[in-house]
Amino acid sequence: MAHDLVIRGGTVVDGSGKKRFSADIGIKDGKIVEIGRIAAGGAKRSLDADGLIVSPGFIDGHTHMDAQVAWDPLGSCSCWHGVTSVVMSNCGFALAPCKPEDRDWYARCLSAVEDIPTEAMAAGIDWTWETFPEYLATVERLPKAINYGMYIGHSALRMYVMGKRALSEKATDDDMARMALAVQEALKAGAMGFSSSRASTHVTPEDKPVASRIAEWEEIDRIIAAMAELDAGIFQIGPDIASGAHHRSFLERLRKVALEYKRPIMFGVLATKQGDDPTGWEYQTRYIDETVAAGGRMFGQGTTRSINAIFSLKSYLPFDVLPAWRPLRALPLAEQKKRLADPAVRRELVEAESRMKPRDNVFQGGGAATTDPRKPDYSNLFALKGVDWDDPTVDQLAKARGQHPVEVMIDLSLADENQVYVQPLVNESPDDVLGILKHQRTLATFSDSGAHVCQEMGSSLQTHLLSYWVRKRGAFTLEQAVKKITHDNAVAWELKGRGLVREGYQADLVLFEESGIRPQLPTVEHDLPGGARRLVQKADGIKATLVNGAIAFEDGDATGAFAGTVLKGRLVS
Ligand SMILES: [Zn+2]
Repeated sequence: MAHDLVIRGGTVVDGSGKKRFSADIGIKDGKIVEIGRIAAGGAKRSLDADGLIVSPGFIDGHTHMDAQVAWDPLGSCSCWHGVTSVVMSNCGFALAPCKPEDRDWYARCLSAVEDIPTEAMAAGIDWTWETFPEYLATVERLPKAINYGMYIGHSALRMYVMGKRALSEKATDDDMARMALAVQEALKAGAMGFSSSRASTHVTPEDKPVASRIAEWEEIDRIIAAMAELDAGIFQIGPDIASGAHHRSFLERLRKVALEYKRPIMFGVLATKQGDDPTGWEYQTRYIDETVAAGGRMFGQGTTRSINAIFSLKSYLPFDVLPAWRPLRALPLAEQKKRLADPAVRRELVEAESRMKPRDNVFQGGGAATTDPRKPDYSNLFALKGVDWDDPTVDQLAKARGQHPVEVMIDLSLADENQVYVQPLVNESPDDVLGILKHQRTLATFSDSGAHVCQEMGSSLQTHLLSYWVRKRGAFTLEQAVKKITHDNAVAWELKGRGLVREGYQADLVLFEESGIRPQLPTVEHDLPGGARRLVQKADGIKATLVNGAIAFEDGDATGAFAGTVLKGRLVS
């Protein structure tokens, strides 16, 4: 058989968790057609994988790329970390369904919750859809380097059906019937399921709860019942972790949904030191085990490191809202640096910090940490020096240098304008993260990629897993870790023909150096439509990424191949 492409001499880690082996891989028409010793000649192209690992492309089930997919054909920053498939529209946030007159409002909501700049959306999106099936068809037409699956999002759906009532009122019987019908229509068009949120950090531009948080559980029941009727669709929901008590009653009510309708349910399993009497991850994973034992289907979504608010001179600093800081921070960067070097200005800036809002135990998401900050806890604010999770805190640096923490941050930023500071918000401790990752019903998946573009950076979760947890800590074998971000996620999201290196499977593949794969440090770039800024993070050690048989990235650069497709739920796939 003449192959379109042969990958020669690689070490295959096939996604099953089984031991690696050496083999060539033959690809034709986007699929893996042969694994073994493939005779030279005949193939249109070959890729030398000598010394490299060849694994299935990584799958990330929790992203917010709904807006970005309209202007970024690459799928950054996930695409730079070996990711070949993502699921977007998580937590109820979506751009469909949406009436033409509500577009601006939707955009502002996404901006408020997920920090996707409205100017980028205005400049980058050609709104050609109203319904979910129309949005899916639009994504299908767009050039894409990677694959995208999508949910129908509750906040969008509620706004679409109820208009402004969605933000304050209980749904009527008729509203619920219309929502249930739209969800069935979405599943028939290829939606992977339905997403929602009850998280207290999810608020509108007016600081009110987003539409999905207004919904009563009866409304959720009606919608999940409609999915059960079709025997299709995953239910993803952002939990309420504002306090331990809220969190636990949320989980109890969610269990009823799981046992009554038997649809797969996913939510973030998160450890946090924030909030009031936080519920530990052990409680959450035990809860999942109990629910599954009682007959439900449930997965916990985990990440591979802390979820952080990220600060830098080029983006946000915790002090930006202070009157003494605001005018300076509005100046061009060069001018800011000049003034930050002036002793009198510095004294004033340091002094202003003492008037910041004191710390309390109100749960703070990444957005609030950058736009409505409390006085930083400098012992939980790290000056990023590398990607090995061993950075010094600003407090440690201040003590070592005999300086005020604010001065330390000013000096580090003057020495390197790309200096980044991270404030862990959840999953602060590596031990907690490891406990979550080791549990048999959790998924390594929670990047939030496409959202919080200048406030958080989770897109590197896969390369972090392989560099930190596999190589540095030895907590997983490479085979186990690859399985977590390929086959395990393909099974959870019911992605047929992906997540393994197998004959007949789609040729979504990553070629990387086992000893060299790692995330680079994040930087702030102005590369969004309209010039808006975001955090960008790339990776080292990835030689090539293939999507549906096409080489989409080589040595970190896009090749211009846009072979990505829309991943559809089980009614259509
Ligand atoms: Zn989310």
